[in-house]
Amino acid sequence: MFELDRRPSAPRRRILTDLSRHNRALILQTLRERGPLPRHELAGATGLSKAATSTLVDVLLSDGRLAEAANIDPARVRGRPVGINPTFAAVVGLELTNDGLIRGVVVNAAGDVLQTIEAGFSATAGPEATADALAAAVRVAAERIESETPLRAVGVAVPGTVDVTEGVVDWLPTTRNWFDVPLQTLLEARIGLPAVVDWRAYTATLAEIRFGAGREDTHVLCLYLGEGIGMGIAEHGAILSGAGNQAGSIAHLQVVSSGGPRCHCGMQGCLWAVASTPAILRRIRDGIEAGVLSPLSQVSDLTLAAVLEAARAGDRLSQDVLEEVAGYIGLAIATCVHVLNPNAVIVAGPLAEAASLLHSTVERVARHHIFPWLRPVPAIRFSQLGIHAAACGIAAVALDRLLGVT
Ligand SMILES: [Zn+2]
Repeated sequence: MFELDRRPSAPRRRILTDLSRHNRALILQTLRERGPLPRHELAGATGLSKAATSTLVDVLLSDGRLAEAANIDPARVRGRPVGINPTFAAVVGLELTNDGLIRGVVVNAAGDVLQTIEAGFSATAGPEATADALAAAVRVAAERIESETPLRAVGVAVPGTVDVTEGVVDWLPTTRNWFDVPLQTLLEARIGLPAVVDWRAYTATLAEIRFGAGREDTHVLCLYLGEGIGMGIAEHGAILSGAGNQAGSIAHLQVVSSGGPRCHCGMQGCLWAVASTPAILRRIRDGIEAGVLSPLSQVSDLTLAAVLEAARAGDRLSQDVLEEVAGYIGLAIATCVHVLNPNAVIVAGPLAEAASLLHSTVERVARHHIFPWLRPVPAIRFSQLGIHAAACGIAAVALDRLLGVT
């Protein structure tokens, strides 16, 4: 008689392993999005059988990723909710800016922000010195984290495009002008923890679609406007990065029909050259030098915050410059809307702080230039997540990797 070989073949084992990993990720993702759920509700939400759900939940409880939720009647064992265990890990998310700042957050595994971080360093520092400064910020954060929550991963959002699978900064323009810098490797060697690096335009977008102004929308464009400019394109929760990780490089979109100020890329009339923070400050200085009266002429260290404060207090120069900037942003939005047909456009980054000064003109100019029969008519909103949104976005990426959600 022939004996049937009942040993599972290698491909079959691999399929089962992949399936199990996929189902674990589905459970974690569902709990991340909906909060703690009893097992039978979790089975219903994921579409997995109750038996499979229960088995996988037991595995995730034993490895610490999940915990039974607190404040539940101990008699209701079957209905006791399980959720992502907040103390499984802490993650640091850092944003590197072009003007010499590292700002960030520490979040726990449930995504709660435990603290914020801010450190200054040289805006022209090279890759090694920048990795040193990032590692120092991580160490400061680690010292402040409570001991029962281990720091397990770090994310860095940078103002330039990134090959995220390799953690290599493809191009980081303006003050640093980096090409092909392996920032992830440089940082991991210093901190001994897994790191992930991505373009902050994308991480700010992720924050908006998960926790912010785009969480109800399927097709979202998120413009990051600050000392650097970029845009994230999100479709059903995924960020589109293009063939070379540069989709959304709207800093160099031409918004001045002819001529215009010179951009750092060498061209004229790019969005960065007229709507970035450096462009706004330059316009204010030009105005003062030309003799326009403004209280900002008395300010030695001119910043975006000072310009916004002056505009709110009635300074005509600041108001005029911001009105012009809003027009260029509206024009850029109209162009992007025609190409990508979103149902929501979000203005994020430091300029989102100027919502009350910019929103009506941005909206008016965008609507004027958008084809009137384009459907859906996209909502145009300003971020309300604040200055740490990009750092929260990269922390979420690092956390997803750590938990096994992605
Ligand atoms: Zn340019």
